[in-house]
Amino acid sequence: MKEEIYRYFLVGGIATAIGLMLNQLLLCLLIGAVAIIFWQYNRFRLLYNWIRQPKKNPMPYTTGVISDISSAFDRLKKSNRQRKKRLQQYMSQFQRGASALPDALVILDGQGQIEWLNGTAKRYLGIHWPGDIKTPISNLIRHPSFTDLLSEVYSSDSELTPEQSTTEFPAPVDERLVLSTSIVPYANGLYLLIARDVTRLIDTNTIRKDFVANVSHELKTPLTVFKGYVEVLQDNKNLDEQSLKALSVMSEHSNRMHAIIEDLLFLSKLEHEPEPTGTSPVLVAELITEIHQVAQTVSGNQKHIFKFDVNPNLMIEGSGDELRSAFTNLIVNAVKYTPAGELIKVHWYRNKSGGHLEIIDNGAGIAERHLSRLTERFYRADAGRSRDKGGTGLGLAIVKHVLQRHEATLAIKSELQVGSTFRCSFPDSRLIEIKPDASRLKA
Ligand code: ADP
Repeated sequence: MKEEIYRYFLVGGIATAIGLMLNQLLLCLLIGAVAIIFWQYNRFRLLYNWIRQPKKNPMPYTTGVISDISSAFDRLKKSNRQRKKRLQQYMSQFQRGASALPDALVILDGQGQIEWLNGTAKRYLGIHWPGDIKTPISNLIRHPSFTDLLSEVYSSDSELTPEQSTTEFPAPVDERLVLSTSIVPYANGLYLLIARDVTRLIDTNTIRKDFVANVSHELKTPLTVFKGYVEVLQDNKNLDEQSLKALSVMSEHSNRMHAIIEDLLFLSKLEHEPEPTGTSPVLVAELITEIHQVAQTVSGNQKHIFKFDVNPNLMIEGSGDELRSAFTNLIVNAVKYTPAGELIKVHWYRNKSGGHLEIIDNGAGIAERHLSRLTERFYRADAGRSRDKGGTGLGLAIVKHVLQRHEATLAIKSELQVGSTFRCSFPDSRLIEIKPDASRLKA
């Protein structure tokens, strides 16, 4: 910098001296200034050529401010080069890792077009790299459940649950493979599609379902014969007290086994048919009246108090038999797990979020840690009490399946020694509200 200033003074001094000698001071100063500008211009041109094409042009060897700019620029370039190299290393590490994954990965942009994919995506989904880049994924995978999932994920404003953002369909490259596919938003308007081969899982599940259905079916006939003979023997007036007691225990256990087999067969039926068969508008008020009688029989001389607050005109489009079974399980559970003489409330109403059936008891309640597992088969919060009450441990599993098939959900709220609320919520699309007088006609 200093050198540059000395240089300007030197040129200025020489121009002044020559100007004074020739008596042309102004002209000589002007020529000196033009010389400095031209010299500076040349240095900027060299710098520009080097920046534009660094391989063809050498770095300008200068002093002063131009030299400072070119060295700062050179340092920046070197550090950028290093950063780029590091990023490339990370990228290739990530791509190698993603390619080694057994699941198919596809990155989609905000319009559902393919940005990137791993090797497994080619094997499972038949997508090609780089030929299919920027192709809308909907052009390549046309299965209806995938199309529905794609439009659901792309149109949703809120975060979807893992169940909502996942679907299953046969692999486009091989119909025998079943892919469980999820699409999740992950950054800056990008979406990640993950497809996993679940064929073996589904096969195992089918084997399990068939096994349970077959065993239940095979046990039903011998058990019916056994129960029949026990009843015949119980009618025999000549038996001593000990034999009668043994027969009574045999009858109790065979009844429980029969109930379990019936529930298992019903669950198998639900699992084997994806949709409820024979749906029609079901008047819930009528179902509740029927179930009330069953509940009173179960309550017997415990004399529970029932309070109903039921919309008489609100119907559900669904299977009457399945809904009766689910609601009966819930109301009978309330009776089984509530002390004698206590109150059991049943509400059926509609609000902005759909139709809701609530069964509220102030019975034993359920500890928080059991709540998430209650709908599993044979899961009991209190095994002893359940068996004493003749429970099969399958009631809530049936409720869950029936509700799922009617696009409904089950919410359970409970507190130990305070009571429980079981709430079944049906979407608006399943509800039909008839005019009040029409309901009376039907009743
Ligand atoms: P179970 O035939 O044993 O009643 P369910 O599947 O119907 O089987 O219910 C599972 C478990 O949930 C029951 O064993 C019981 O521990 C608990 N449970 C269900 N309903 C109630 C309720 N209203 N109050 C307290 N516990 C309940």
